[in-house]
Amino acid sequence: MNRIATIARQSTLDGELARAVSGGVHAPGSAAYEALRRPLRPDLDPRPAVVVEAANVADIRASLLAAQRHGVPLAVQATGHGTHVAADDAVLLRTTDMTSVLVDPARRVARVGPGTRWSEVLAAAAPFGLAPLSGSSPTVGVTGYTLGGGVGWLARRHGFAADSVVRAQVLTADGRLLTTGPDQYPDLFWALRGGGGGFGIVTSLEFRLYPVDQVTAGFLYVPLSGEAVAFYGGWAPSLPDDLSTALVVRRMPGTEDVPPALRDRSVIMLKVLHSGDPAHTRRLLAPMIAAAGPVVHDELRVLPYAQAAMGGTAARHLDFFPALPTGAITELLADHAATGSTVEIRHWGGAMADAGPDAGPAGHRQTPFSVILDTPRADTANRLAAYGTGATFLNFLADTGRTPTAFSAENLRRLRAVKRFYDPDGFFRLGHTVAAPAHPHRRAA
Ligand SMILES: Cc1cc2nc3c(=O)[nH]c(=O)nc-3n(C[C@H](O)[C@H](O)[C@H](O)COP(=O)(O)OP(=O)(O)OC[C@H]3O[C@@H](n4cnc5c(N)ncnc54)[C@H](O)[C@@H]3O)c2cc1C
Repeated sequence: MNRIATIARQSTLDGELARAVSGGVHAPGSAAYEALRRPLRPDLDPRPAVVVEAANVADIRASLLAAQRHGVPLAVQATGHGTHVAADDAVLLRTTDMTSVLVDPARRVARVGPGTRWSEVLAAAAPFGLAPLSGSSPTVGVTGYTLGGGVGWLARRHGFAADSVVRAQVLTADGRLLTTGPDQYPDLFWALRGGGGGFGIVTSLEFRLYPVDQVTAGFLYVPLSGEAVAFYGGWAPSLPDDLSTALVVRRMPGTEDVPPALRDRSVIMLKVLHSGDPAHTRRLLAPMIAAAGPVVHDELRVLPYAQAAMGGTAARHLDFFPALPTGAITELLADHAATGSTVEIRHWGGAMADAGPDAGPAGHRQTPFSVILDTPRADTANRLAAYGTGATFLNFLADTGRTPTAFSAENLRRLRAVKRFYDPDGFFRLGHTVAAPAHPHRRAA
């Protein structure tokens, strides 16, 4: 398309949206466009055709219909935490302002708008002694997190966040606003519980809350050794479901804010969140400490769930391991020694693995350990291939070329069937999507 035609199409799209939408509509060149067009990832520099700040469901619908009339893609962005594809030439639909939380303490459910972040749900639920299945960061968006499965520190006890969704309102590619649930559009409802954002625009989400108030959470630091990592591989699967742990191999900074015993040292940081009786936490941890100790630094505390800041590791390499054999541990520690990479081995299982037959497609439920490295070497994937399953988890996956690896073969087949039915033209194609779009306006990745 030549430049004049592009500008003409552009102004028609902007103008049409400005008339139809009650929220902000920002065209290239405006200060608001510059401020709003980027996601969190610094390497993405998207140039959308227009940025829309949706104020309500009617704005979302108007944006979808305008994008389709003009033959441009549409990208949904709430917080930008999980955006991995640049929304070039697209309608960038920001739901950020559509925050709302309604807690029903009697039914123990919350209903949220599509821009809501976990911090808002945590604050609204805590006065009732309730908690959502939030993740490591309160600034992450509830909807994007839940559509991608959502694994938090209560997941071994209560399952993926996606497993706790009871209803979702979604605008489909054909412009229909559907209320989905176990008995309403059950195939679409199933896909939304872990299949990602490629099935429609979720305009509200209702999910279970759990009676969790105080937890024992934080970190225990022990010396780094391969024997300790090996012990963890055998010990973690024996833990009760209310105890979640991860073993993190970390090089601690040498800065003043780091306790002297840890400064400039490679250690094991055992991350712990126990939602059972605090009187039992240290007894449950004792075998691991006996094998890996002594504890060099202790940051384990009893505190409200909403204040447990567990942190995360950027998943630049991600795989699932069925076990932690010596060869795998040697390779992981070699990566740590070579690049200073943080290595996070997280124990899954529990309620995630025990979900009922109607559970959504989230995750590879039977695999006990996820392994994440934040600074892998060029050959890390090859060296670890013998030990991993090759599987991934949608929320920890940046590479949209690997989206299918986030699902079992059976779930992938079922997801593709749902996608073909509800989005036959592949309109929702920016980000993680399960089907190769056969769309005339598709751009090369
Ligand atoms: C610091 C940090 C900590 C994290 N911790 C965890 C964790 O503990 N557990 C975990 O499971 N994940 C975690 N994640 C991953 C996170 O859950 C995903 O990146 C998720 O996609 C973020 O959603 P968002 O709405 O905040 O991001 P956005 O970038 O705004 O959205 C990401 C994608 O979600 C989809 N989406 C968002 N809103 C809608 C909607 N209304 N309708 C349809 N699709 C929509 C779209 O596909 C969009 O591309 C973390 C990420 C970061 C950066």
